[in-house]
Amino acid sequence: MQSVRVAFVVSELTPYAKTGGLADVGEALSRALAELGHDVRVFVPLYDTIDRDGLSIEKRFETEAFDLWEGTLPRSKVPVYFVDCPRFFSRGSLYTNDPDEPLRFALFCHAVVQSCQRLVFAPQIFHLNDWQTSLVPVLLETTYAWDRLFEGAKTVLTIHNLGYQGVFGAEAIERMDIPDSSHFDEHDRGAGVVNLLKTGISHADHLTTVSPTYAREIQTEEQGFGLDGLLRHRSGRLTGILNGVDYGEWDPENDEHIPYRYSAETIRLKKQNKVKLLQELGLASSSPDADPPLIGMVSRLSAQKGIELLPRALPDFLARHDSSLAVLGTGERAYEEFFSMLEKRFPGRVRFYRGFNNRLAHWIEAGADMFLMPSRYEPCGLNQMYSLRYGTVPVVRKTGGLADSVQQFDPATGEGHGIVFEHYTASGVQWGLERAIELYGDTASWDRMVQNAMACDFSWAGPAARYSDIYRELLIH
Ligand code: ADP
Repeated sequence: MQSVRVAFVVSELTPYAKTGGLADVGEALSRALAELGHDVRVFVPLYDTIDRDGLSIEKRFETEAFDLWEGTLPRSKVPVYFVDCPRFFSRGSLYTNDPDEPLRFALFCHAVVQSCQRLVFAPQIFHLNDWQTSLVPVLLETTYAWDRLFEGAKTVLTIHNLGYQGVFGAEAIERMDIPDSSHFDEHDRGAGVVNLLKTGISHADHLTTVSPTYAREIQTEEQGFGLDGLLRHRSGRLTGILNGVDYGEWDPENDEHIPYRYSAETIRLKKQNKVKLLQELGLASSSPDADPPLIGMVSRLSAQKGIELLPRALPDFLARHDSSLAVLGTGERAYEEFFSMLEKRFPGRVRFYRGFNNRLAHWIEAGADMFLMPSRYEPCGLNQMYSLRYGTVPVVRKTGGLADSVQQFDPATGEGHGIVFEHYTASGVQWGLERAIELYGDTASWDRMVQNAMACDFSWAGPAARYSDIYRELLIH
């Protein structure tokens, strides 16, 4: 197989800096591409939230605008280049609402291209991810068009979430150090804005998104966030590839974060994780003999995740069914307040852990019986795939990657591995949870569903091969 030189450019990367699935994808996909023989090098900002003492990195060079540090992605030989610019990346968080937000990531994009120059690394593919990196195609067409190093280089832009487009005042264009503003949408400029993701979508050689269903959905008015027309126009260059799971990180058989490791054969140990988790979270069983189901959630608490449906679904459900709920998340204040209220209303049955906690995320996957994802939209979603491997039945809304990865369980045939509800309504959520409870009471069906779930294989080798094919096709034409 022909090896391709890839600059993989991403604004978050596990294990260094993470706010969501993008970080996990950045890590696992770049590693999987390297395993296929490609020369992959990852670029990420060196945020001040990254623990530098724990990092093994070396400075490669300094420029007036930034320094470049090099490390290696764990469990691989993939070089990771950290763009160090305290002026922009020492803000206490990855993303900000500061007025210079577009400049922070414009600097990052410039730094990536300039670093390739300094390292004399000639990527054949710039693989970009989301709006933070979307300026690279325009930079290659303008500021750096003179450089033969990038001759023939192609750009692939992966859209991880169309809901975040990087829209700023048009005055940012001048400050981003781009010679010609005509590369930005004329209509937007007239309206006084610049949309970075849109710019990337217009200029990248190929577009991908993180599930086939989401690739279709974003071409509809309902889910296109205003870019559906442009995406339909570019549909011949848009591919949906379902993300994979890094089973090196997310597998109950080797998970360092959970008290009892288990596999499909030793599934009874899952129960011990549950008992310990209930203790840890101060959740009590209604009686020593009963084993009511524990529902888990680990999520950014944003509108996208369907939390708005829960006030009309969960109190009623919890009042009617002996069950408990463990929620880990942080985000919009109203949603956090809702879960705090729920915790007070159902003491000993609901626990809301507000914050970001990787260990608890793993433990909830291992300890819960079912995992709720009522998303309004979900480009791919990783937690439902993690849940499957942990034998934790996903209860999901039929949208995006949830629809592509969770198959409805049918007790008549014994096929399927989760519960899928159609409607984005409180009664949809209730239907899903009621169905889950019903099956939980039918031990034979439940055990079968859990075994089916654990047998699913979403490893990265398949998706990485699809990306590889796209690279090669682009380089031939
Ligand atoms: P998104 O990228 O939209 O947030 P995904 O399901 O693709 O959703 O990925 C979410 C990732 O972030 C998962 O790895 C999940 O475990 C993790 N995560 C989300 N919220 C938290 C949290 N509060 N603490 C720890 N991990 C979290």
